[in-house]
Amino acid sequence: MHTITIKAGREKLLLKHHPWVFSGAIDRVDGNRGEGDFAKVLSADGDFIAYGYYDEKSHIVLHLLSWDEGTQADESLVRSLVRKSVLRRARLLGEKGTTALRLIHGEADFLPGIAADCYGREIRIIASSRFADRFLPQIAAELDALLHPAIIESSVDKAYASSEGLPDRIRTFRDGKETAGDLSRPSVRFIEDGILYEAAPGKGQKSGFYCDQRDNRRIVEEYAEGRTVLDLFSYTGPFTLHALRGGALSVDAVDSSESALRHLLYQIHINEDEGVIAKGSRDRVTITDADCFEHIRTVESGKYDLMILDPPKLARTKGSLDNAMKAYKDLNRVAMTKIRNGGIIATFSCSAAMTRESFRMMLSWAAADAHAEVQLLRTLSAGEDHPVRLSFPESEYLKGAILRIIRS
Ligand code: SAH
Repeated sequence: MHTITIKAGREKLLLKHHPWVFSGAIDRVDGNRGEGDFAKVLSADGDFIAYGYYDEKSHIVLHLLSWDEGTQADESLVRSLVRKSVLRRARLLGEKGTTALRLIHGEADFLPGIAADCYGREIRIIASSRFADRFLPQIAAELDALLHPAIIESSVDKAYASSEGLPDRIRTFRDGKETAGDLSRPSVRFIEDGILYEAAPGKGQKSGFYCDQRDNRRIVEEYAEGRTVLDLFSYTGPFTLHALRGGALSVDAVDSSESALRHLLYQIHINEDEGVIAKGSRDRVTITDADCFEHIRTVESGKYDLMILDPPKLARTKGSLDNAMKAYKDLNRVAMTKIRNGGIIATFSCSAAMTRESFRMMLSWAAADAHAEVQLLRTLSAGEDHPVRLSFPESEYLKGAILRIIRS
């Protein structure tokens, strides 16, 4: 175990339970330098602050894990953090009609760089830190002991693979033990809010599905009856499926991923076959493989009265926020000018770098430039399986709004 002393005056954030410590705040490291290991973190006066994990090859060299001095800082801590994270979701795990949810939400669940999602009988993990990569076997073993999934598959978040020096590979675990990669297994079927989905092994964006939008899909469905819908950035179609179930007249789904759009059609068929949505729903849907920022400019004004705007993360860092704000604003502005008078826009941003305040400001700029009055009907966020930890504001990333657009 390392012993790490923090520079005088640099301990404030640590004492507020923010989990990230950069090298500039560290005065001294006693222990085997070069090796990732647990660390006891002390103030300049030698007082205990927290236990963490130190790895100088990581872009965040020290991740704090526990502020309880009585904690045993070793592999058992990792397993106990996994267990607590899963147990906090007992209510959601018992919910009928939903078998897809996030089990571990990174630092918000005290587990740095680990996202774990459950899809029916499978668990998919995304590792974005050296800590996650190192303790994958322990994490998988604990998840297996708790939930007995058929398989656990882990991949590396490509955005962090090079900065963390992680090999970009898929690892699989069965019965809690690592096994040779098995990507020939059939797709897993799972349910979210009564709607059926499938995810192919090793494929898809993120871990194959965006379960953070569960509550918001349910809300959008409430607005769908009798509407002509445009689902921009549809991916594999969860909003489209909800709009169909909610009684939309038609849905035009647009995404730049052709394979996602094909999968969208497949998922409509599954849900028709199982009686979740009406037979013939497919005939009310079109798919378009296009850049949504361009496509929105070409749509006929007044055609749609419900639009969903769910773009990918446009601001990767605080530094790219200015440009991202312009892109978000432009997208929303054009949507506000094109939508039928009185229509509804469900709009989202999943950029953590953009605060809720800047999201709201961006929408008001877009409204002003679209010469529209806009009513904010609902403020949206990720589901409770993606908690926001108040001592770690970076965990708030998904912001959304249901807007009514009024043009005199
Ligand atoms: N609404 C989806 C999630 C959207 S994720 C859901 O509920 O599951 C963002 C999507 O935007 C991805 O499917 C990605 O393929 C797509 N995308 C990224 N850039 C795009 C662009 N410029 N034009 C169209 N689609 C884009």
